[in-house]
Amino acid sequence: MLTALAGGVGAARFLDGLVAVVPPEQVTTVVNTGDDDEFHGLWVCPDLDSVTYRLAGAQHPETGWGLAGETFHTMGALARYGAPTWFNLGDRDLATHLYRTQRLNQGASLSEVTAEIVGAWGIRSRLLPMSDDRVATRITVRAGGPDAATEELAMQEWFVHRRSEPPVVSVRFEGAETARPAPDVLEALEMAETIVVCPSNPVISIGPILAVPGIRDVLTARRDRVVGVSPIISGRPVRGPADRLMGPLGIEVSCVGVADAYREFCSTLVIDAADAALAPEVEALGVRAIVADTVMRDARVAATLARHTLAAVA
Ligand code: GDP
Repeated sequence: MLTALAGGVGAARFLDGLVAVVPPEQVTTVVNTGDDDEFHGLWVCPDLDSVTYRLAGAQHPETGWGLAGETFHTMGALARYGAPTWFNLGDRDLATHLYRTQRLNQGASLSEVTAEIVGAWGIRSRLLPMSDDRVATRITVRAGGPDAATEELAMQEWFVHRRSEPPVVSVRFEGAETARPAPDVLEALEMAETIVVCPSNPVISIGPILAVPGIRDVLTARRDRVVGVSPIISGRPVRGPADRLMGPLGIEVSCVGVADAYREFCSTLVIDAADAALAPEVEALGVRAIVADTVMRDARVAATLARHTLAAVA
């Protein structure tokens, strides 16, 4: 059995490769829910949906979110009423949020609804939200102006509406202190032969998962079984705003910074061939460095990367 920790797009690409090299039934993925938020009265879980759509082979080929061949008529119609439409939700994607919200309102837990959605897409691996309790990633940014004022934004407000532009001061995970890991999460981590930290944003995708009480402790206890894949290559994220979060929080924007952030609970880090020269610096932190091609251009590269990653702690 294998357990993975995942954010959205980077993780989804990797997981697609993973289920090509091991039986999907043996894979459990614990997904970040700190980005989840309500739009138009609907509960939206961006990372769960990105991973679900990708594993179903239904993801949009370019955007990295949403469904292939999507239309946006409902958003256009909402604009007539002056509703905010900066968080774009496709017509077919809306069905997922409608269904999820309705089931949550009926009293189902997020794990139960997630299992229903994943099953309906024909996915054979298991997806678990990190928690059924609400955890909200909140980002404090410099508001600009001469008085050095700050303001706190919801994750999607900063990332999508404000295009990751306001400089980050700090990040917190509201509700994390009292959140419980979702059913089966701790067990999946305790039982796994290998635990993979997917190439995801260390601060706002992996960070919220680690903030749920109990998860970091199990990982630390099983450190020799934990392998990460660096989302940072040549000092830059492959995509997304990881650099705009890591820098201000004192994490060097490099695979060495990732190793430093993960070293307490991660024995091995897969770094890109472009960063081979940094392997000694990673190892100086007590983290074994494995060099591989980690730019997942296509399914074949992702599968090869998954194979190297599993072999690293075999
Ligand atoms: P988000 O919630 O959609 O931002 O998803 P993640 O946190 O999973 O993904 C963003 C991170 O994945 C970024 O830091 C990217 O650099 C990383 N990423 C995306 N594609 C790749 C890839 O092909 N290889 C590697 N190594 N990292 C990737």
